[in-house]
Amino acid sequence: MTTFHLVEQLAEACVICGQNILYSSDVNNEQYVGYDAKFCKRCDRWLEGTCEDPLCKYCPDRPPKPSLVHYTEVGA
Ligand SMILES: [Zn+2]
Ligand SMILES: [Zn+2]
Repeated sequence: MTTFHLVEQLAEACVICGQNILYSSDVNNEQYVGYDAKFCKRCDRWLEGTCEDPLCKYCPDRPPKPSLVHYTEVGA
């Protein structure tokens, strides 16, 4: 089964580039992955840090940059 990166476009703008930012969803199942974090695609930057919880279902698997997420992006 193909897994997709589920993202949602937000009305908020990136303070650096002015583009609308995206939210990587909090859904994690066989079909969709999300990292429960906002990011700017143009700047290729997560806008939220990761937590220290080794059992967190989002942070430990989050690639250092949004462009390194190897799943195809789909809108929520
Ligand atoms: Zn930006
Ligand atoms: Zn976390």
